[in-house]
Amino acid sequence: MQKLWLKDFEHHISAATANTADDLLQAGSVKALREVEKHFWVATVEAPDGTFEIEAMITPHKIKAFTCECWTEGRRLMCPHIAAALLKLRQFLEQKTEENKVKAEKRAKTELNRITISNVLDSATPEALAEFVQEYSRRDRDFALALKTWFAATVSGTENPFALILDSVIPKTVSDKKAKEPDLRRVRQTLDDLIRQLDGAAEEHNFSTAFQIALTIVQKIAPLWPNWKIKNGRRCYSSVNTFFPVWQNCRNCPCRPNSRRRPGRRYSTWHVRKVIPVK
Ligand SMILES: [Zn+2]
Repeated sequence: MQKLWLKDFEHHISAATANTADDLLQAGSVKALREVEKHFWVATVEAPDGTFEIEAMITPHKIKAFTCECWTEGRRLMCPHIAAALLKLRQFLEQKTEENKVKAEKRAKTELNRITISNVLDSATPEALAEFVQEYSRRDRDFALALKTWFAATVSGTENPFALILDSVIPKTVSDKKAKEPDLRRVRQTLDDLIRQLDGAAEEHNFSTAFQIALTIVQKIAPLWPNWKIKNGRRCYSSVNTFFPVWQNCRNCPCRPNSRRRPGRRYSTWHVRKVIPVK
């Protein structure tokens, strides 16, 4: 049997057979094309001269063997029925390849090539997230501190959660000139986080919180100033100076936690003078 390739076999058979095969294909005469075993294809061809079943072995691009019911004894040449079925098979395989390509492209588009934080936040349940936060806070002190600082303002049951946060990071021996770098780093990080909250509170015109954060920083950090280089210190001083009068004057402002108790007095001028140098 002549070695033929599925991609161009029609150029290697008689032109008449190829033309008839093409006509049969166009007329939709090839029916029930199926792969009954791996690489073994069968089809029924309804031709004007009769209905014939053909069989063909294709591995995977080479035509290895074929046979047709129309064959009379001794015939081994490709008939138009086989040629039509092979054309149909080529069409089918080309279509399948194209479909697979489109599917692969679609999959590549939808499949993640990296996991982002928002992917995780979208898919994790609140319970699972809480569990992670618990577990990770136990493992990582810095994470725990950042978490506590971030949510300090939402904690109830204390008058000044910011003071509690700073107390937990400032080493007890503040006079120590040789403060350890990791301790300093934690203080700096916490200050950065608190100042970010201060800015946020001020932007939202929540002057009581802005003032409370600024004052707490000044109170807690002032003793460290002579020995430690704390950036943003000057800013906290000016924040206290800025937000205290604003807060004191906004008597009807909703940012005052309890106007009947006049909480402004808690931060009396004396209190502020104690930590802020008086001109
Ligand atoms: Zn035939």
